[in-house]
Amino acid sequence: MDIGGTKIAVGMIDGEGKVLGRLQCSTDADGGYSRALENIRKMLETTSRVSGTEISGIGIGSTGPVDPITGEFGNVNFFPDWKGENPVKDLAAIFRVNVAIENDGDAAALGEAGWGAGKEKKRLIYITVGTGIGNGLIFDGHLYRGVDGSHPEMGHHVIDPSGPLCDCGAHGCWESLAAGPALTAWMRKEAGDEYPHRANLTAKRICELAEEGDALAQRAVEREAYYLGLGLANLVTMFTPDAIVLGGSVMKSAHLFLDGIRKIIQQNCGLVPFEKTELTLASLGEDSNLIGAAQVWHHRFSGGGVHHAC
Ligand SMILES: [Zn+2]
Repeated sequence: MDIGGTKIAVGMIDGEGKVLGRLQCSTDADGGYSRALENIRKMLETTSRVSGTEISGIGIGSTGPVDPITGEFGNVNFFPDWKGENPVKDLAAIFRVNVAIENDGDAAALGEAGWGAGKEKKRLIYITVGTGIGNGLIFDGHLYRGVDGSHPEMGHHVIDPSGPLCDCGAHGCWESLAAGPALTAWMRKEAGDEYPHRANLTAKRICELAEEGDALAQRAVEREAYYLGLGLANLVTMFTPDAIVLGGSVMKSAHLFLDGIRKIIQQNCGLVPFEKTELTLASLGEDSNLIGAAQVWHHRFSGGGVHHAC
């Protein structure tokens, strides 16, 4: 199950990461937790019946903060009245199976490590760039956790202290400079009133305009590659991982950024074997969060860490 700010998706995933069936509903924050739980129960029963498979366990990837150890929701700004609720306990009681939850960045990282682009990588960092920048770290098949099970937030490490103020309290954190909204905000600021594509500017649209040869959009893409590159260069210097897997909506246009990113890494990572860190794109596609959620369950209960096959 993938719990996001706008939708909750459930899917039946087999032991090789294949999606046998999926359903989704809107998160409907106003409807409250018990209604969401009831929707989830119905969707799980339906998708199980339709795909002709019993549910042997439930893995959850969720927008944070969630406590992966207790299963309890923290203060999630999308749905404030979920604080203190515990879908792990509730679903275990309803379905009588083991249930595990992780932050959605960690879930997607586990998915890519088990069944996607990060397979067989000993030291793997997953970075997702969309409306924010999320992450997950997998070392030797195991998810890295901070103190008390906390989730590190690489998206909020500071790139430029003179940069914009972020909700996290920092000025110029990576997310505030390189996530999708930062790209569109820069473009809106730079584009004069006479700029013909002013309306409906999105990260996706800006990338299309750059490919069509629009000079301003090309500058926006160069700026984006620069800030993506600075953050990634910091990760390479600090962790020298085998691979960094890049996912999320902005990375659908990764071909526009990769050369710029590599240049910044080369300029900034002189003390480490940066050329050995493989930059690769996430490979699980649209269902990556759901597939990752299944891997959350395998990772927690199969005993041996990331799970590769039946
Ligand atoms: Zn921040």
